[in-house]
Amino acid sequence: MQLPEKSYGRIELAVRKIIRMGHPTLRKVARPLSDSEILSDEIARLVSDMTDTLHDYGGIGLAAPQVNESVRLALIEIPSEGSRYGDLESLSLTVFVNPTVSILDSPCAGFWEGCLSVPGLRGWVERPQCVRVDYKDLELGEHSQEFSGFQATVIQHEFDHLDGVLYVDRIADMKQLLFEEEFERLAKLGNTVD
Ligand code: ZN
Repeated sequence: MQLPEKSYGRIELAVRKIIRMGHPTLRKVARPLSDSEILSDEIARLVSDMTDTLHDYGGIGLAAPQVNESVRLALIEIPSEGSRYGDLESLSLTVFVNPTVSILDSPCAGFWEGCLSVPGLRGWVERPQCVRVDYKDLELGEHSQEFSGFQATVIQHEFDHLDGVLYVDRIADMKQLLFEEEFERLAKLGNTVD
């Protein structure tokens, strides 16, 4: 027996499976969305499902290719507290459609990155720390916004997914790729670099 959907509203989370490194979709260049697609029910549903998925997995960013949809769309939400990334700049849930990133003149800095598509690992990646992002929102509004620090790192990590690039490709020293348990053990001993 099924409950009548209507009278209960939206009672189920729609968590999609996150594909992992090795799945070919993660290595494809995703295609841009047309304006009519951005306004479509399918994309509204995809964004809603991706939001549920991001929250269920406890991530801070999710790109559409990670749920096996090869389109240029990503969500980022950096909580202010209780994050495993500590006290880093928060960002309320933002949907980026067809984003392009411009690196502004800025030195690189590194963070221990992780990825829901590469579970259980952490790697040290250095990236430019000041970027400008041009993107559309779900109402076709155009935005041009600057991001710095950890936000800039998260943005570049997520948008790399739209080009078939994973953070492990950007680790300069492969000795800095660790299992998360080992990373946490070292962090407790105060031996991690950052
Ligand atoms: Zn990722």
